[in-house]
Amino acid sequence: MVATGKWSVAEDLNLKMVIGGQRLEASNGARLTTEDPATGRVIGSFPAATADDVGRAVENSRAALKGDWRRMTPAARGRVLVRAAAILRREADRLARIETLDSGKPLREAKADLETSAGYFEYYGGFADKLEGTSIPLGPDYMSFTLHEPVGVTAHVIPWNFPLTTTARGVAPALAAGCTAVVKPAALTTLTSLLLADVLDEAGLPAGVYNVVPGRGSEAGAALVAHPDVAHVTFTGSVATGQGIMRTAADHVASVTLELGGKSPVAVLADADLGAAVEGTLKAIYMNAGQVCSAGSRLVVERKVHAAMMERLVPRVAAMEAGHGLDDAAIGPMVSAEQVQIVADYVEDARRANSLEILVGGRRLAPAGLERGHFYAPTIIDDAPRSARVVQEEIFGPVLTVQIVDSPEEAIAVANDSPFGLCAGIYTRDIARAMAFARDVDAGQVFINQYFAGGISTPFGGTKMSGFGREKGLAALASYYRVKCITTRL
Ligand code: NAD
Repeated sequence: MVATGKWSVAEDLNLKMVIGGQRLEASNGARLTTEDPATGRVIGSFPAATADDVGRAVENSRAALKGDWRRMTPAARGRVLVRAAAILRREADRLARIETLDSGKPLREAKADLETSAGYFEYYGGFADKLEGTSIPLGPDYMSFTLHEPVGVTAHVIPWNFPLTTTARGVAPALAAGCTAVVKPAALTTLTSLLLADVLDEAGLPAGVYNVVPGRGSEAGAALVAHPDVAHVTFTGSVATGQGIMRTAADHVASVTLELGGKSPVAVLADADLGAAVEGTLKAIYMNAGQVCSAGSRLVVERKVHAAMMERLVPRVAAMEAGHGLDDAAIGPMVSAEQVQIVADYVEDARRANSLEILVGGRRLAPAGLERGHFYAPTIIDDAPRSARVVQEEIFGPVLTVQIVDSPEEAIAVANDSPFGLCAGIYTRDIARAMAFARDVDAGQVFINQYFAGGISTPFGGTKMSGFGREKGLAALASYYRVKCITTRL
Protein backbone atom coordinates (compact mmCIF):
# COMPACT_ATOMS: atom_id res chain seq x y z
CA MET A 1 0.00 0.00 0.00
CA VAL A 2 1.40 3.40 -0.99
CA ALA A 3 -0.53 6.40 0.32
CA THR A 4 -1.26 8.97 -2.37
CA GLY A 5 -2.44 12.57 -2.42
CA LYS A 6 -0.98 15.99 -1.80
CA TRP A 7 0.61 15.15 1.53
CA SER A 8 2.31 11.82 0.90
CA VAL A 9 5.57 10.21 -0.11
CA ALA A 10 6.11 7.87 -3.05
CA GLU A 11 7.03 4.76 -1.12
CA ASP A 12 5.42 2.00 0.86
CA LEU A 13 5.66 2.80 4.56
CA ASN A 14 4.48 -0.59 5.78
CA LEU A 15 7.76 -1.74 7.29
CA LYS A 16 9.18 -4.71 9.15
CA MET A 17 11.33 -4.88 12.24
CA VAL A 18 15.06 -5.42 12.14
CA ILE A 19 16.67 -8.32 13.98
CA GLY A 20 20.05 -9.81 13.12
CA GLY A 21 20.02 -8.10 9.72
CA GLN A 22 16.68 -9.64 8.76
CA ARG A 23 13.39 -7.84 8.17
CA LEU A 24 10.74 -9.69 10.21
CA GLU A 25 7.12 -9.63 11.33
CA ALA A 26 6.30 -9.96 15.04
CA SER A 27 6.21 -13.54 16.31
CA ASN A 28 2.44 -13.23 16.84
CA GLY A 29 1.90 -11.31 13.59
CA ALA A 30 0.62 -8.17 15.37
CA ARG A 31 1.10 -4.79 13.65
CA LEU A 32 0.50 -1.18 14.63
CA THR A 33 -0.32 1.74 12.34
CA THR A 34 1.09 5.25 12.30
CA GLU A 35 -0.73 8.39 11.21
CA ASP A 36 0.05 11.78 9.73
CA PRO A 37 -0.76 14.09 12.67
CA ALA A 38 -1.73 16.90 10.31
CA THR A 39 -4.48 14.92 8.58
CA GLY A 40 -5.18 12.04 10.96
CA ARG A 41 -4.67 9.68 8.01
CA VAL A 42 -2.89 6.32 8.42
CA ILE A 43 0.36 6.48 6.45
CA GLY A 44 2.10 3.25 7.36
CA SER A 45 2.47 0.35 9.75
CA PHE A 46 5.04 -1.79 11.52
CA PRO A 47 5.19 -4.95 13.64
CA ALA A 48 4.47 -4.75 17.37
CA ALA A 49 7.41 -6.66 18.81
CA THR A 50 6.65 -9.19 21.54
CA ALA A 51 8.88 -10.04 24.50
CA ASP A 52 10.07 -13.07 22.47
CA ASP A 53 11.06 -10.82 19.57
CA VAL A 54 12.93 -8.54 21.93
CA GLY A 55 14.75 -11.55 23.40
CA ARG A 56 15.77 -12.60 19.89
CA ALA A 57 17.02 -9.08 19.11
CA VAL A 58 19.14 -8.99 22.26
CA GLU A 59 20.54 -12.46 21.50
CA ASN A 60 21.49 -11.36 17.99
CA SER A 61 22.99 -8.18 19.33
CA ARG A 62 25.04 -10.18 21.83
CA ALA A 63 26.27 -12.59 19.16
CA ALA A 64 27.17 -9.64 16.90
CA LEU A 65 29.39 -8.25 19.66
CA LYS A 66 31.68 -11.23 19.25
CA GLY A 67 31.51 -11.47 15.45
CA ASP A 68 32.79 -9.31 12.58
CA TRP A 69 32.14 -6.16 14.56
CA ARG A 70 34.73 -7.11 17.13
CA ARG A 71 37.24 -8.25 14.51
CA MET A 72 37.05 -4.95 12.63
CA THR A 73 39.76 -2.44 13.46
CA PRO A 74 38.49 0.67 15.22
CA ALA A 75 39.45 2.71 12.15
CA ALA A 76 37.30 0.46 9.92
CA ARG A 77 34.44 0.78 12.44
CA GLY A 78 34.77 4.53 12.24
CA ARG A 79 34.66 4.41 8.44
CA VAL A 80 31.33 2.53 8.58
CA LEU A 81 29.89 5.37 10.65
CA VAL A 82 31.30 8.05 8.37
CA ARG A 83 29.85 6.23 5.35
CA ALA A 84 26.48 6.11 7.14
CA ALA A 85 26.69 9.90 7.51
CA ALA A 86 27.24 10.29 3.77
CA ILE A 87 24.33 7.98 2.93
CA LEU A 88 22.06 9.86 5.34
CA ARG A 89 22.96 13.10 3.58
CA ARG A 90 22.26 11.49 0.19
CA GLU A 91 18.86 10.29 1.45
CA ALA A 92 18.13 13.44 3.47
CA ASP A 93 15.27 14.85 1.38
CA ARG A 94 13.48 11.50 1.21
CA LEU A 95 13.90 10.67 4.91
CA ALA A 96 13.04 14.21 6.01
CA ARG A 97 9.71 14.00 4.17
CA ILE A 98 8.96 10.71 5.92
CA GLU A 99 9.94 12.19 9.29
CA THR A 100 7.63 15.14 8.68
CA LEU A 101 4.75 12.92 7.59
CA ASP A 102 5.15 10.71 10.67
CA SER A 103 5.81 13.37 13.33
CA GLY A 104 4.14 16.49 11.91
CA LYS A 105 7.20 18.71 12.24
CA PRO A 106 7.79 21.33 9.51
CA LEU A 107 9.98 20.09 6.67
CA ARG A 108 12.79 22.58 7.36
CA GLU A 109 13.06 21.15 10.89
CA ALA A 110 13.04 17.56 9.62
CA LYS A 111 15.79 18.47 7.15
CA ALA A 112 17.80 19.97 10.01
CA ASP A 113 17.21 16.72 11.96
CA LEU A 114 18.61 14.72 9.03
CA GLU A 115 21.72 16.88 8.93
CA THR A 116 22.11 16.54 12.71
CA SER A 117 21.71 12.76 12.50
CA ALA A 118 24.34 12.54 9.76
CA GLY A 119 26.50 14.78 11.94
CA TYR A 120 26.30 12.36 14.87
CA PHE A 121 27.58 9.47 12.73
CA GLU A 122 30.34 11.61 11.27
CA TYR A 123 31.41 13.06 14.62
CA TYR A 124 31.46 9.76 16.53
CA GLY A 125 32.93 7.90 13.53
CA GLY A 126 35.98 10.09 14.04
CA PHE A 127 36.33 8.90 17.63
CA ALA A 128 36.27 5.15 16.98
CA ASP A 129 40.06 4.86 16.74
CA LYS A 130 40.86 7.52 19.33
CA LEU A 131 39.43 6.01 22.51
CA GLU A 132 42.82 5.67 24.10
CA GLY A 133 43.48 4.47 27.61
CA THR A 134 46.16 5.80 29.94
CA SER A 135 49.27 4.44 31.59
CA ILE A 136 49.64 4.64 35.35
CA PRO A 137 53.13 5.19 36.80
CA LEU A 138 53.66 2.66 39.61
CA GLY A 139 57.45 2.73 39.63
CA PRO A 140 60.09 0.55 37.95
CA ASP A 141 58.69 -2.82 39.07
CA TYR A 142 55.25 -2.51 37.51
CA MET A 143 53.55 -1.72 34.24
CA SER A 144 49.95 -0.53 34.45
CA PHE A 145 47.58 0.70 31.76
CA THR A 146 43.88 0.99 30.96
CA LEU A 147 41.80 -0.29 28.06
CA HIS A 148 38.45 1.10 26.93
CA GLU A 149 36.18 -1.86 26.29
CA PRO A 150 32.65 -1.67 24.84
CA VAL A 151 30.06 -2.18 27.60
CA GLY A 152 28.17 -4.68 25.41
CA VAL A 153 24.57 -4.68 24.21
CA THR A 154 23.02 -1.23 24.61
CA ALA A 155 19.28 -0.48 24.62
CA HIS A 156 17.96 2.80 23.22
CA VAL A 157 14.41 3.78 24.17
CA ILE A 158 13.32 6.69 21.99
CA PRO A 159 10.61 9.39 22.36
CA TRP A 160 8.37 10.61 19.54
CA ASN A 161 9.50 14.22 19.28
CA PHE A 162 12.92 13.70 17.66
CA PRO A 163 12.67 10.15 16.32
CA LEU A 164 15.75 9.97 14.10
CA THR A 165 18.06 12.40 15.89
CA THR A 166 17.52 10.75 19.29
CA THR A 167 18.25 7.36 17.74
CA ALA A 168 21.41 8.64 16.05
CA ARG A 169 22.46 10.55 19.18
CA GLY A 170 22.64 7.35 21.22
CA VAL A 171 23.48 4.73 18.61
CA ALA A 172 26.41 6.56 16.95
CA PRO A 173 28.58 6.85 20.12
CA ALA A 174 27.56 3.31 21.17
CA LEU A 175 28.79 1.90 17.84
CA ALA A 176 31.91 4.06 17.88
CA ALA A 177 32.82 2.48 21.23
CA GLY A 178 32.30 -1.01 19.75
CA CYS A 179 28.92 -1.76 21.34
CA THR A 180 25.86 -3.15 19.61
CA ALA A 181 22.39 -1.60 19.82
CA VAL A 182 18.75 -2.56 20.15
CA VAL A 183 16.41 0.36 19.54
CA LYS A 184 12.81 0.70 20.76
CA PRO A 185 11.32 3.66 18.89
CA ALA A 186 8.18 5.45 20.08
CA ALA A 187 5.02 3.86 18.66
CA LEU A 188 3.84 7.25 17.33
CA THR A 189 6.97 7.80 15.22
CA THR A 190 8.66 4.54 14.35
CA LEU A 191 9.45 4.80 10.65
CA THR A 192 12.84 6.52 10.41
CA SER A 193 14.58 4.32 12.98
CA LEU A 194 13.55 1.31 10.88
CA LEU A 195 14.74 3.00 7.67
CA LEU A 196 18.05 3.84 9.34
CA ALA A 197 18.78 0.09 9.25
CA ASP A 198 18.96 0.24 5.42
CA VAL A 199 21.43 3.13 5.66
CA LEU A 200 23.63 1.24 8.12
CA ASP A 201 23.47 -1.96 6.02
CA GLU A 202 24.65 -0.04 2.96
CA ALA A 203 27.41 1.56 5.03
CA GLY A 204 28.76 -1.93 5.81
CA LEU A 205 27.57 -2.42 9.39
CA PRO A 206 27.60 -6.16 10.16
CA ALA A 207 24.22 -7.85 10.68
CA GLY A 208 22.95 -7.81 14.26
CA VAL A 209 24.85 -4.71 15.36
CA TYR A 210 21.79 -2.46 14.90
CA ASN A 211 18.40 -3.97 15.72
CA VAL A 212 15.00 -2.29 15.96
CA VAL A 213 12.09 -3.68 17.98
CA PRO A 214 9.14 -1.36 17.44
CA GLY A 215 5.94 -1.55 19.44
CA ARG A 216 4.40 -0.55 22.70
CA GLY A 217 6.45 0.74 25.61
CA SER A 218 4.64 -1.52 28.04
CA GLU A 219 5.55 -4.62 26.02
CA ALA A 220 8.58 -4.20 23.73
CA GLY A 221 10.13 -1.39 25.81
CA ALA A 222 9.62 -3.12 29.14
CA ALA A 223 11.02 -6.44 27.82
CA LEU A 224 14.09 -4.72 26.43
CA VAL A 225 14.95 -2.83 29.59
CA ALA A 226 14.39 -5.95 31.71
CA HIS A 227 16.60 -8.17 29.57
CA PRO A 228 19.57 -9.37 31.67
CA ASP A 229 21.96 -9.18 28.70
CA VAL A 230 21.42 -5.45 28.22
CA ALA A 231 24.41 -3.67 29.75
CA HIS A 232 23.30 -0.05 29.35
CA VAL A 233 19.97 1.68 28.74
CA THR A 234 19.88 5.08 27.09
CA PHE A 235 16.42 6.49 27.70
CA THR A 236 14.87 9.73 26.53
CA GLY A 237 11.30 10.41 27.52
CA SER A 238 9.05 11.27 30.41
CA VAL A 239 10.03 11.35 34.08
CA ALA A 240 7.66 8.58 35.15
CA THR A 241 8.81 6.15 32.46
CA GLY A 242 12.44 7.00 33.21
CA GLN A 243 11.97 6.26 36.90
CA GLY A 244 10.43 2.88 36.06
CA ILE A 245 13.30 2.06 33.70
CA MET A 246 15.86 2.92 36.36
CA ARG A 247 14.14 0.55 38.81
CA THR A 248 14.01 -2.26 36.24
CA ALA A 249 17.63 -1.77 35.18
CA ALA A 250 18.65 -2.05 38.85
CA ASP A 251 17.51 -5.69 38.87
CA HIS A 252 20.38 -6.67 36.58
CA VAL A 253 22.63 -3.73 37.46
CA ALA A 254 22.58 -2.16 34.01
CA SER A 255 23.74 1.44 33.82
CA VAL A 256 21.29 4.08 32.60
CA THR A 257 21.36 7.47 30.96
CA LEU A 258 18.12 9.35 31.61
CA GLU A 259 17.20 12.35 29.47
CA LEU A 260 13.86 13.41 30.92
CA GLY A 261 11.66 16.47 30.84
CA GLY A 262 12.38 20.14 31.25
CA LYS A 263 10.85 23.51 32.06
CA SER A 264 13.73 25.65 30.97
CA PRO A 265 13.90 29.40 31.64
CA VAL A 266 14.91 32.08 29.15
CA ALA A 267 15.99 35.10 31.21
CA VAL A 268 15.84 38.49 29.50
CA LEU A 269 17.57 41.22 31.49
CA ALA A 270 16.83 44.92 31.09
CA ASP A 271 20.02 45.57 29.10
CA ALA A 272 19.42 42.76 26.59
CA ASP A 273 19.36 43.09 22.82
CA LEU A 274 15.59 42.69 22.63
CA GLY A 275 15.64 41.82 18.93
CA ALA A 276 17.88 38.84 19.62
CA ALA A 277 15.84 37.93 22.70
CA VAL A 278 12.60 37.88 20.68
CA GLU A 279 14.09 35.72 17.92
CA GLY A 280 15.62 33.39 20.51
CA THR A 281 12.40 33.06 22.46
CA LEU A 282 10.33 32.27 19.35
CA LYS A 283 12.70 29.46 18.44
CA ALA A 284 13.02 28.29 22.04
CA ILE A 285 9.32 27.58 22.48
CA TYR A 286 7.67 27.14 19.07
CA MET A 287 10.12 24.81 17.32
CA ASN A 288 8.40 21.43 16.77
CA ALA A 289 5.23 23.00 18.24
CA GLY A 290 6.94 23.18 21.63
CA GLN A 291 7.40 19.40 21.80
CA VAL A 292 11.04 19.76 22.74
CA CYS A 293 12.52 18.63 26.06
CA SER A 294 14.96 21.55 26.01
CA ALA A 295 12.32 24.11 24.98
CA GLY A 296 12.64 27.51 26.62
CA SER A 297 9.12 27.40 28.00
CA ARG A 298 9.44 30.05 30.75
CA LEU A 299 10.28 33.61 29.76
CA VAL A 300 11.77 35.23 32.87
CA VAL A 301 11.82 38.91 31.98
CA GLU A 302 12.87 42.01 33.92
CA ARG A 303 9.90 44.32 34.53
CA LYS A 304 11.63 47.26 32.78
CA VAL A 305 11.53 45.43 29.44
CA HIS A 306 8.44 43.29 29.93
CA ALA A 307 6.08 45.54 27.96
CA ALA A 308 8.61 46.04 25.16
CA MET A 309 9.17 42.27 24.87
CA MET A 310 5.45 41.54 24.72
CA GLU A 311 4.89 44.30 22.13
CA ARG A 312 7.39 42.59 19.88
CA LEU A 313 6.56 38.96 20.66
CA VAL A 314 2.76 38.91 20.54
CA PRO A 315 2.28 40.10 16.91
CA ARG A 316 4.97 37.69 15.74
CA VAL A 317 3.22 34.79 17.47
CA ALA A 318 -0.22 35.87 16.24
CA ALA A 319 1.13 35.88 12.67
CA MET A 320 2.42 32.27 12.80
CA GLU A 321 0.26 30.25 10.43
CA ALA A 322 -0.39 26.63 11.21
CA GLY A 323 -0.34 24.13 8.38
CA HIS A 324 1.01 20.86 7.06
CA GLY A 325 4.66 20.13 7.81
CA LEU A 326 5.25 19.18 4.17
CA ASP A 327 4.16 22.72 3.20
CA ASP A 328 6.76 23.95 5.69
CA ALA A 329 4.18 25.84 7.72
CA ALA A 330 5.35 28.25 10.44
CA ILE A 331 3.95 25.80 12.98
CA GLY A 332 2.93 22.20 12.37
CA PRO A 333 0.53 19.92 14.23
CA MET A 334 1.21 18.29 17.57
CA VAL A 335 1.96 14.59 17.41
CA SER A 336 -1.44 13.30 18.57
CA ALA A 337 -4.93 14.23 19.74
CA GLU A 338 -3.88 13.24 23.28
CA GLN A 339 -1.05 15.78 23.30
CA VAL A 340 -3.40 18.55 22.14
CA GLN A 341 -5.78 17.63 24.94
CA ILE A 342 -2.97 17.82 27.52
CA VAL A 343 -2.00 21.30 26.30
CA ALA A 344 -5.64 22.48 26.23
CA ASP A 345 -6.10 21.27 29.82
CA TYR A 346 -3.03 23.19 31.02
CA VAL A 347 -4.18 26.41 29.38
CA GLU A 348 -7.67 25.95 30.79
CA ASP A 349 -6.15 25.46 34.24
CA ALA A 350 -4.20 28.73 33.87
CA ARG A 351 -7.42 30.52 32.92
CA ARG A 352 -9.59 29.04 35.65
CA ALA A 353 -7.37 28.27 38.64
CA ASN A 354 -5.05 31.27 38.29
CA SER A 355 -7.15 33.68 36.18
CA LEU A 356 -4.07 34.27 34.04
CA GLU A 357 -4.12 36.40 30.95
CA ILE A 358 -3.65 34.61 27.66
CA LEU A 359 -2.03 37.23 25.42
CA VAL A 360 -2.28 35.20 22.23
CA GLY A 361 -3.38 31.70 21.23
CA GLY A 362 -4.99 29.56 23.91
CA ARG A 363 -7.16 27.55 21.51
CA ARG A 364 -7.19 24.61 19.12
CA LEU A 365 -6.79 25.28 15.41
CA ALA A 366 -8.27 23.64 12.33
CA PRO A 367 -6.41 24.91 9.23
CA ALA A 368 -8.31 24.58 5.94
CA GLY A 369 -8.18 21.02 4.64
CA LEU A 370 -6.61 19.81 7.90
CA GLU A 371 -9.68 19.81 10.12
CA ARG A 372 -8.83 16.33 11.45
CA GLY A 373 -5.27 17.31 12.36
CA HIS A 374 -3.94 17.90 15.87
CA PHE A 375 -3.27 21.63 15.95
CA TYR A 376 -2.92 24.02 18.88
CA ALA A 377 -2.28 27.74 18.49
CA PRO A 378 1.06 29.16 19.66
CA THR A 379 0.23 30.65 23.04
CA ILE A 380 1.63 33.15 25.55
CA ILE A 381 0.43 33.21 29.16
CA ASP A 382 1.44 36.43 30.89
CA ASP A 383 2.62 37.21 34.42
CA ALA A 384 2.25 33.76 35.96
CA PRO A 385 2.97 33.22 39.67
CA ARG A 386 5.74 30.79 40.58
CA SER A 387 3.25 28.30 42.01
CA ALA A 388 1.07 27.99 38.88
CA ARG A 389 0.95 24.55 37.26
CA VAL A 390 1.87 26.12 33.91
CA VAL A 391 5.08 27.35 35.55
CA GLN A 392 6.02 24.21 37.45
CA GLU A 393 4.99 21.41 35.06
CA GLU A 394 6.23 20.53 31.61
CA ILE A 395 3.42 21.20 29.11
CA PHE A 396 5.30 19.87 26.05
CA GLY A 397 3.40 22.10 23.64
CA PRO A 398 3.53 25.59 22.09
CA VAL A 399 2.86 27.45 25.33
CA LEU A 400 5.18 30.16 26.68
CA THR A 401 4.68 31.18 30.30
CA VAL A 402 5.93 34.64 31.26
CA GLN A 403 7.37 35.39 34.73
CA ILE A 404 8.21 38.99 35.61
CA VAL A 405 11.18 39.77 37.90
CA ASP A 406 12.71 42.94 39.35
CA SER A 407 16.43 42.16 39.29
CA PRO A 408 19.03 39.84 37.79
CA GLU A 409 19.27 38.12 41.18
CA GLU A 410 15.55 37.45 41.20
CA ALA A 411 15.87 36.10 37.65
CA ILE A 412 18.28 33.44 38.95
CA ALA A 413 16.01 32.57 41.89
CA VAL A 414 12.98 32.24 39.59
CA ALA A 415 14.96 30.26 37.01
CA ASN A 416 15.95 27.77 39.72
CA ASP A 417 12.46 27.46 41.21
CA SER A 418 11.65 24.34 39.19
CA PRO A 419 11.83 20.60 39.71
CA PHE A 420 13.70 20.39 36.37
CA GLY A 421 17.21 21.42 35.37
CA LEU A 422 17.77 20.75 31.69
CA CYS A 423 18.62 24.09 30.02
CA ALA A 424 18.68 27.78 30.86
CA GLY A 425 19.13 30.78 28.58
CA ILE A 426 20.02 34.37 29.32
CA TYR A 427 20.00 37.52 27.21
CA THR A 428 22.14 40.39 28.52
CA ARG A 429 24.95 42.63 27.23
CA ASP A 430 26.71 42.35 30.60
CA ILE A 431 29.12 39.42 30.41
CA ALA A 432 29.71 39.36 34.18
CA ARG A 433 25.95 39.07 34.80
CA ALA A 434 25.71 36.34 32.17
CA MET A 435 28.53 34.43 33.82
CA ALA A 436 27.05 34.86 37.31
CA PHE A 437 23.79 33.43 35.93
CA ALA A 438 25.69 30.55 34.29
CA ARG A 439 27.46 29.83 37.58
CA ASP A 440 24.34 29.91 39.76
CA VAL A 441 21.66 28.41 37.55
CA ASP A 442 20.95 24.73 38.12
CA ALA A 443 20.90 23.33 34.59
CA GLY A 444 22.87 20.94 32.41
CA GLN A 445 23.47 23.56 29.72
CA VAL A 446 23.38 27.33 29.67
CA PHE A 447 22.88 29.37 26.50
CA ILE A 448 24.08 32.98 26.53
CA ASN A 449 22.57 35.38 23.97
CA GLN A 450 21.43 32.55 21.70
CA TYR A 451 19.02 29.90 22.92
CA PHE A 452 20.02 26.43 21.63
CA ALA A 453 23.60 27.62 20.96
CA GLY A 454 25.86 24.59 20.49
CA GLY A 455 25.22 21.27 18.77
CA ILE A 456 26.52 17.77 18.26
CA SER A 457 29.80 18.37 20.07
CA THR A 458 28.39 20.15 23.16
CA PRO A 459 27.49 17.78 26.04
CA PHE A 460 23.78 17.61 26.80
CA GLY A 461 21.86 16.35 29.82
CA GLY A 462 20.02 17.37 32.93
CA THR A 463 20.11 17.97 36.64
CA LYS A 464 17.30 17.33 39.18
CA MET A 465 14.22 15.66 37.59
CA SER A 466 15.62 16.22 34.09
CA GLY A 467 17.83 13.18 34.61
CA PHE A 468 21.53 12.37 34.55
CA GLY A 469 24.24 11.19 32.24
CA ARG A 470 25.33 13.12 29.17
CA GLU A 471 24.60 12.72 25.49
CA LYS A 472 26.41 14.45 22.64
CA GLY A 473 30.03 15.51 22.60
CA LEU A 474 32.96 13.53 23.92
CA ALA A 475 31.11 13.17 27.24
CA ALA A 476 28.53 10.77 25.75
CA LEU A 477 31.14 8.14 24.91
CA ALA A 478 31.76 7.43 28.59
CA SER A 479 28.40 5.61 28.78
CA TYR A 480 29.46 3.13 26.13
CA TYR A 481 32.89 1.96 27.23
CA ARG A 482 34.19 0.68 30.52
CA VAL A 483 37.69 1.11 31.76
CA LYS A 484 39.69 -2.06 32.35
CA CYS A 485 42.95 -1.63 34.25
CA ILE A 486 45.76 -4.11 33.65
CA THR A 487 48.74 -4.14 36.00
CA THR A 488 51.76 -6.41 35.83
CA ARG A 489 54.64 -6.99 38.16
CA LEU A 490 57.85 -7.00 36.14
P1 NAD B 1 7.41 8.35 27.19
O1 NAD B 1 8.17 8.26 28.45
O2 NAD B 1 5.96 8.13 27.21
O3 NAD B 1 7.97 7.35 26.10
C1 NAD B 1 9.34 7.33 25.72
C2 NAD B 1 9.68 5.94 25.22
O4 NAD B 1 9.58 5.02 26.30
C3 NAD B 1 8.76 5.41 24.12
O5 NAD B 1 9.50 4.69 23.18
C4 NAD B 1 7.84 4.49 24.90
O6 NAD B 1 7.25 3.50 24.09
C5 NAD B 1 8.80 3.90 25.90
N1 NAD B 1 8.17 3.31 27.09
C6 NAD B 1 6.98 3.61 27.66
N2 NAD B 1 6.75 2.84 28.74
C7 NAD B 1 7.83 2.04 28.87
C8 NAD B 1 8.20 1.02 29.80
N3 NAD B 1 7.42 0.69 30.82
N4 NAD B 1 9.39 0.42 29.65
C9 NAD B 1 10.22 0.75 28.64
N5 NAD B 1 9.92 1.69 27.72
C10 NAD B 1 8.74 2.33 27.83
O7 NAD B 1 7.80 9.82 26.62
P2 NAD B 1 7.22 10.52 25.31
O8 NAD B 1 5.84 10.98 25.59
O9 NAD B 1 7.45 9.67 24.11
O10 NAD B 1 8.20 11.76 25.17
C11 NAD B 1 7.94 12.98 25.78
C12 NAD B 1 8.81 13.18 27.00
O11 NAD B 1 10.18 12.95 26.66
C13 NAD B 1 8.78 14.59 27.54
O12 NAD B 1 8.67 14.55 28.93
C14 NAD B 1 10.12 15.18 27.13
O13 NAD B 1 10.60 16.20 27.94
C15 NAD B 1 11.00 14.00 27.16
N6 NAD B 1 12.14 14.20 26.28
C16 NAD B 1 13.37 14.43 26.83
C17 NAD B 1 14.47 14.65 26.01
C18 NAD B 1 15.85 14.89 26.60
O14 NAD B 1 16.83 14.72 25.87
N7 NAD B 1 15.97 15.27 27.86
C19 NAD B 1 14.32 14.64 24.62
C20 NAD B 1 13.04 14.39 24.10
C21 NAD B 1 11.97 14.17 24.95
